[in-house]
Amino acid sequence: MYDEFFSKFSDPKALNESKEDDIRDVIRPLGFVNQRTRTFREVGEVFCKDYRGEVPNSLDQLKRPWRVGDYSARACQLFARGEPLALVDANFSRVIGRIFGYDMPRQPHKSEEVYALLESLVPSDPPLARAFNLAILDLGALICTPSSPACSTCPINAACYYYDENRSE
Ligand code: SF4
Repeated sequence: MYDEFFSKFSDPKALNESKEDDIRDVIRPLGFVNQRTRTFREVGEVFCKDYRGEVPNSLDQLKRPWRVGDYSARACQLFARGEPLALVDANFSRVIGRIFGYDMPRQPHKSEEVYALLESLVPSDPPLARAFNLAILDLGALICTPSSPACSTCPINAACYYYDENRSE
């Protein structure tokens, strides 16, 4: 699906000139088709109208199309441009919170303090910044799960506050 998407819509201009049904057909496997079609339509319109058809290079500008939020804007800057940003979501916040014994707020993606903490951990080297984010996301999805973290087999348990506090001697 991704190959087809990028071959048909390689830039904002291609999105802007496409028919709604063309976008809809390609992204159908992703689900939430109506919402995502509207977002992609707006990405094409806004970026062509206000940024000469380029993908803008700031988080605030990237977030202008409907329902493009912090996570998507940060992912764009991190993966496409190598900015050392943190992809703050529930998994990322849970893993980091456990490792450092940090009490995360209920909505970590809305907390300036959380962004400051997580960003201080991201390496400045672009490939390392990408690898760091992907590693934390994988750890949260596969090992440090919400209800039953597999601490005994976790590769970073020696540095984890949660493991140290909860293991039985
Ligand atoms: S040791 Fe346990 S709590 Fe700590 S990061 Fe690994 S799985 Fe999560």
